[in-house]
Amino acid sequence: MIQKPRGTQDIFEIKSKQYNDLENTIINVLKTYNLNEIRTPIFEAKELFVRSVGETSDVVSKEMYEFFDKKGREFVLRPEGTAPIVRSLIENKLYAPEFLPLKLYYVGPMFRYERPQTGRYRQFEQIGVEILGVDSVYQDIEILAMLDSITKAIKIDTKVELDLNYLVTGKQREIYIKELTKFLVDFDDLCDDCEVRIHKNPLRTLDCKIDFNKFKTAPKMTSFLSKEDEQRFQQILEAGKKIGLKININQRLVRGLDYYTGLIFELKYLESSLGSQSTIIAGGRYNNLVKDLDGPDLPAIGFAMGVERLILILEENQINLNHDHGIDLYTIALSSEAMILNLEIIRDLRNNDIRVETDYLNRSLKSNFKQAEKLQAKNVIVIGDNEIKTQKIVIKNQINKAQTEVKISDLVEEMKAGK
Ligand code: ATP
Ligand code: MG
Repeated sequence: MIQKPRGTQDIFEIKSKQYNDLENTIINVLKTYNLNEIRTPIFEAKELFVRSVGETSDVVSKEMYEFFDKKGREFVLRPEGTAPIVRSLIENKLYAPEFLPLKLYYVGPMFRYERPQTGRYRQFEQIGVEILGVDSVYQDIEILAMLDSITKAIKIDTKVELDLNYLVTGKQREIYIKELTKFLVDFDDLCDDCEVRIHKNPLRTLDCKIDFNKFKTAPKMTSFLSKEDEQRFQQILEAGKKIGLKININQRLVRGLDYYTGLIFELKYLESSLGSQSTIIAGGRYNNLVKDLDGPDLPAIGFAMGVERLILILEENQINLNHDHGIDLYTIALSSEAMILNLEIIRDLRNNDIRVETDYLNRSLKSNFKQAEKLQAKNVIVIGDNEIKTQKIVIKNQINKAQTEVKISDLVEEMKAGK
């Protein structure tokens, strides 16, 4: 028997409803912020991620699914959503003034070769947001408000907290990196990755999953902020508190990807059940990425959330997002002549947005009613010779047990009114 690849999932029945509910709820929130969807390819040139996410990042150095196509071009299954969007923006010239600010969201699978565990898969889904063309502190604050709106909409706002940091920018970044390097070279017991990072990308050591605890006394990034950055960070913190988010300043938060500048954040689930998979949303400002990928100088901010982790949290807390999964009507035809009429009736109903199920398995009346119950049908109709003769039909309401006789020609209107 052929099995699915390790770290992937088949999503069906209740699980697929959970995905739908979660996606719909979050997309509705994103639409209230006037974001539009963008879809980009599942695979991209490998170079795109090497040049954006960074060669020393875990994602690029260890986690990419890489392959050559038949012409020998090197591609990867996309490990994240930001670089492809920036690529698309540059390629399609979406930086033209008429498109700006560009306010986008995306939903789709990402691929990383990691050790599968709870909340960590090789194919997982992200919902992400990218806002390009604005470098305003108010936009930064609005991004935090968006996190608040999302967590409230999915009813986990009391169970999360937000780690914030502000990456030093410009000249101050160079000064900080020098200080940090001085601090780092004194260790003689760092992991192999960190030994490389000290020289190639010292900032990255700070969120090393192995050496993390050794760096408690590392120079504090926020003490190196320029006056302007310091003020902006304070403004964000104050506004964030007003929004009501539980906020921690986390000096060692640097995020795994290379392209961040300024505000960065991670939203964490407070219970320990997800272990080291407790980060559910992560993002920040990346004002240099568009330029670094040969586009214009265009500021940007964004974040991405892991759908599987959110679903685990909803399950753990028995949170039901309360979308209606029942159908509006279940129809039963008692003869082949009745079936012809039935097919006509249900096509009309479906053309009018009524959710209908019918039976082609020749079930008994009893088992049809059982099936209707299982599908949470709100109404049932039975079509037999009498209905054909009188052209009238009885709508049996399954919730309040009311029975209403209507002309078949009025059925659509009746069902629409009752929805
Ligand atoms: P982690 O430290 O858990 O590996 P990350 O920093 O690699 O996370 P990001 O690249 O910031 O993660 O991705 C944003 C979000 O996507 C994460 O916060 C998480 O919710 C989700 N995510 C990342 N990798 C996976 C994975 N392998 N399986 C499931 N969800 C994931
Ligand atoms: Mg990771």
